[in-house]
Amino acid sequence: MKRGEGIPLKIVDLSVTIGPGTLSPPSVNKQLTLTPYYRGPGYWRASSVDMVLHTGSHVDFSAHVVDGGETAADVDLDRICGDAMVLDLHELGADQPITVDLMEAKGKDVRRGDIVLVRTDWTERMWGNFPDYYLHSPYCEPEAARWLVDRGARAIGFDCFSEYCARLPSFTSEDFVVHKVILEAGAILMQQVTNLSRLPVGQSFSAQLIPSMRRPLHMPDMRCWTPGRSTNCAEPTSRLWSTRIILTDGSLAKRNSLNCATS
Ligand SMILES: [Zn+2]
Repeated sequence: MKRGEGIPLKIVDLSVTIGPGTLSPPSVNKQLTLTPYYRGPGYWRASSVDMVLHTGSHVDFSAHVVDGGETAADVDLDRICGDAMVLDLHELGADQPITVDLMEAKGKDVRRGDIVLVRTDWTERMWGNFPDYYLHSPYCEPEAARWLVDRGARAIGFDCFSEYCARLPSFTSEDFVVHKVILEAGAILMQQVTNLSRLPVGQSFSAQLIPSMRRPLHMPDMRCWTPGRSTNCAEPTSRLWSTRIILTDGSLAKRNSLNCATS
């Protein structure tokens, strides 16, 4: 293909904006803080960030819920590239479940290897309204997650706070059932994405869901919270706070014609 006559792409940013004051999920309930550093005599600035990595739009890997599981560095990017489908459940309201019946009704075209994006529009409507964003989100029932992995979804994204127990103050590791169903099956989980209303419904398209940074940070002082104890983690279990999930809209392009970026 000659330069300049490339495949038309539409890039949709599926990431929410985060910044000082953005609240993490209730499990840790921590506000993001930025510390700026300046040098003169003109303008120069750099910043450090203190936040829970599961804040905002992000990708979860199995080390989040499986001892010895995969971290961000273990996962090839082709596992988050491929044909994608939106399951349009945007009529779901606050506190309503994503059920197997909805999967059966909306997901009959899901094929093995698809990236499935579950659309509720909750993030578009509610992001920034803390803690209600977390406490009253539509949520996924574990049977619906099982349905998706049994159909062969390679990656599943939710534009809501999908794990019901995560809004409860006393949840345990064993209550994270939707995460376990998806991540133990070898699929990738994307959380709190946004802008799914800007994607085509009822047709497959090519997607590259590329986080902005390829490698995890090493944060030896990061804490994994579990009720009653803290554990040092050598590796984060989600990608970075600055994750920008980008999707190329294959409705304008030929299926499977896009190469995966390897940033
Ligand atoms: Zn997470």
